[in-house]
Amino acid sequence: MLFSDLKLNASLLKAIHDEGYTTPTPVQEKAIPSILEGRDMLAGAQTGTGKTAGFTLPILELLSQKPHNKARPILRVLILTPTRELAAQVQESVKAYGKYLPYKSAVIFGGVSINPQIQMLRSGIDILVATPGRLLDHVSQGTIDLKHVETLVLDEADRMLDMGFIKDIRRVISLLPTKRQNLLFSATYSDEIKKLCQSILKNPVIVEVARRNTSSELVNQRVIMVDCKRKTALLAKLIQENKWEQLLVFTRTKHHANKVSEYLAKINISSAAIHGNKSQGARTKALADFKNGSVKVLVATDIAARGLDIDQLPHVINLELPNIAEDYVHRIGRTGRAGNNGEAISLVCVDEHEYLAGIEKLINRKFKREIIEGFEPNPDIKAEPIQQGRGSKPQGQPRRRENAPREYVEKRRNR
Ligand code: AMP
Repeated sequence: MLFSDLKLNASLLKAIHDEGYTTPTPVQEKAIPSILEGRDMLAGAQTGTGKTAGFTLPILELLSQKPHNKARPILRVLILTPTRELAAQVQESVKAYGKYLPYKSAVIFGGVSINPQIQMLRSGIDILVATPGRLLDHVSQGTIDLKHVETLVLDEADRMLDMGFIKDIRRVISLLPTKRQNLLFSATYSDEIKKLCQSILKNPVIVEVARRNTSSELVNQRVIMVDCKRKTALLAKLIQENKWEQLLVFTRTKHHANKVSEYLAKINISSAAIHGNKSQGARTKALADFKNGSVKVLVATDIAARGLDIDQLPHVINLELPNIAEDYVHRIGRTGRAGNNGEAISLVCVDEHEYLAGIEKLINRKFKREIIEGFEPNPDIKAEPIQQGRGSKPQGQPRRRENAPREYVEKRRNR
């Protein structure tokens, strides 16, 4: 199938051509025709599948088919995302695909001053990309009018629920016109997602594309056994010996992300940390520097990294395994994208055997345990008992539910 078969106007086709896309991705092939028909949609698609264009292109097409007669732009499309980074990326896509069309878009999220956003909203916009908390701040200040919204997109809806946004989402929905098109994107179908779908989607088309990476041959997954205390040194050795130029490193805590980034910088490996305690400015800069190559290593926590659109990332390193097995799948989803091979290496110490077993069970695969010469694990070091509490929940415990309040608090603080 070609993009020209998808009933998109010439301005959109030109923008697609400028982006260098030749054929629609599976989610685009499936989603675009149904969205153009005005149908509600439940799409099981992760970041990296081309889902953003999958909803943005038909939304722009529908806007052009139904012009309004107001002098100023009116807010007709609302896209909600869980994180600021994803919101910014989605708006970049809206701008790129809509560059030959007259529609104005804006992005609003917390952690930055609200005043410039108010100015921007005052001048009138057609498409708004927002995180739920800051959107509601604008609603309570009367700086946003949602009564003309025709299309609602919930992007990474599962993550929004995981982060405790459900009340905010329901409040936003209660402020929208009842007659509207609803598009919900989610990588997983938990009971909560099903409940949300039942309450907001009307006779939805269901679009399911193969989950990347759960069984992806594109990602070479390796496990290296090493002592906990020597992981950072091994990371530095791997970077230097393999001459890696761009890699994303995951840690479990913000504190550790900072420490690793500082350590690498000291030995002249350019690096930046990205996590929820960093200011929005610092996060945006770190991501931009990483994308343009001036920073080699981005050290991130799971929440910060979710939804990052970094093309063709060659290496993902799990300096610490996630304590939630599903996060492993999300993490390695940063590599091996769009037909490019990627490598995901997990450095695993004696304390993490249980996490590794949980991941192997989830993806139904047993990893070979590699050992690097000079970094052999010391057999005398025994596993520490798993501590309950922050950042160290064992596998098999209820996932994220317990985390939600803390992340929610963080979210409120970061607004
Ligand atoms: P997304 O899943 O929306 O985050 O998109 C992932 C990446 O795929 C982005 O960098 C897009 O620019 C890229 N992309 C989207 N659609 C296509 C396409 N049809 N062909 C090639 N790349 C695409």
